[in-house]
Amino acid sequence: MRSCRFIRTDGSPCRSAPIRGEDYCFWHSPAHAEEADEARRLGGLRRRKERTVAGAYEFQGLATVADIRRLLEVAVIDTLSLENSVARSRTLAYLGQTALKCLETGELEERLALLEAAVKSRDLSPASDFDFDLDLDEDHDPKELMP
Ligand SMILES: [Zn+2]
Repeated sequence: MRSCRFIRTDGSPCRSAPIRGEDYCFWHSPAHAEEADEARRLGGLRRRKERTVAGAYEFQGLATVADIRRLLEVAVIDTLSLENSVARSRTLAYLGQTALKCLETGELEERLALLEAAVKSRDLSPASDFDFDLDLDEDHDPKELMP
């Protein structure tokens, strides 16, 4: 398959699919340079705004239970600050349910981490004094076990 003919400053090719009937992709097409510049500018503004808003709310994404909890906290505080209404009460009840689910998931995550740590430390530690093989092979005389 054909790819964009643009060569980066490091000498590597662009590899994006070219625009139909052109040799370059959207980002490198001389015919679309203005559009591409505008798209880059808007993308930059969007990313800057995203960082500003995320910073203002101390929001770090949705990767962990703690992150999701932070999002719920923000939503609860914003909802609480609204005038009382049936819709506000419904939203708060929904946020409460979601928070409960989040707490359950967080608790499971912690328990799993503890279990994984326990299993890992058991694999690494030498056999404990209490570990022994109960040898029940048939070649043993059963009387050996008798007092
Ligand atoms: Zn390209």
